[in-house]
Amino acid sequence: MKYFIFSACIVLMITSCRPDDVTPTIERPTRDDHLTLGNPSNATSDPNNSKNYLIQRPSYALSYNATTNLTNWCSWHLSTAWKGGVERYSGQFIPDNTLPQGWYVARHSDYTNTGFDRGHLCPSDDRDSTIEENKSTFILTNIVPQAPKHNRQAWNLLEQYTRELLKDGNEIYIVAGTYGKGGEGDNGQATTIGSITVPSALWKVIIVLPIGSNDVQRVTATTRVIAVWMPNNNEVGAEKWSNYRVSVDEIEKRTGLDFFSNVPTGIQSSIEQKTDLQTIQAVFDIIM
Ligand code: MN
Ligand code: MN
Repeated sequence: MKYFIFSACIVLMITSCRPDDVTPTIERPTRDDHLTLGNPSNATSDPNNSKNYLIQRPSYALSYNATTNLTNWCSWHLSTAWKGGVERYSGQFIPDNTLPQGWYVARHSDYTNTGFDRGHLCPSDDRDSTIEENKSTFILTNIVPQAPKHNRQAWNLLEQYTRELLKDGNEIYIVAGTYGKGGEGDNGQATTIGSITVPSALWKVIIVLPIGSNDVQRVTATTRVIAVWMPNNNEVGAEKWSNYRVSVDEIEKRTGLDFFSNVPTGIQSSIEQKTDLQTIQAVFDIIM
């Protein structure tokens, strides 16, 4: 009898370990490091690195330039793990009091009556899980002077389209940034608003992965990348963002940045030379 129980146990142990009995792991959306795929300018949190100063918050990471008083780029991970039902923060935009002493600190009123919107790099709607996280997108180092139609139409629709991709079981890494000096808002051309440089263009790089872990290793030559380069004016803002798609190589060439530097160079070069050609539904591409 003892022997029988013993052997029954062995059989049970063996059968319960058969590979076809292993329940497949269901990948759940996580919150990942904003710089998982790379730090596009090797920004550092050294105040002496004042043109490429790294600011890291739970919600995003960014490179700030204390000469232009403008953010160079902001990078963030997006998955449904960052999403929730918190209402959009409705107070004044928030001065960034973490900037090193002596640096210019932008205020809400700097943008008032300038003809430019307070344009989010990391959008409010990408961070609505907690009040604190949503509020952090209103800190003025995440904000740039953006032509109103650029902000409210084309750029906004690209943000909505990106969130729509979450519904297909994806997670996404985004880098958005500024280039040059001189845009055209509601009051015409401007190179600065007070101490803040008005960028001549905004650009964005988006990479889409199915939900999973070890994201760097899962990027392949066929991973979808969407990149846009959009001059900072109302005319461009009223057009389809899809017409402004470019390759990542093009943005790297114009800005001197290096995206996806943690991805092996062969795969990096494949995904960076392509321009996204997927058809975009009109509802996410143009204000009718
Ligand atoms: Mn916006
Ligand atoms: Mn690169």
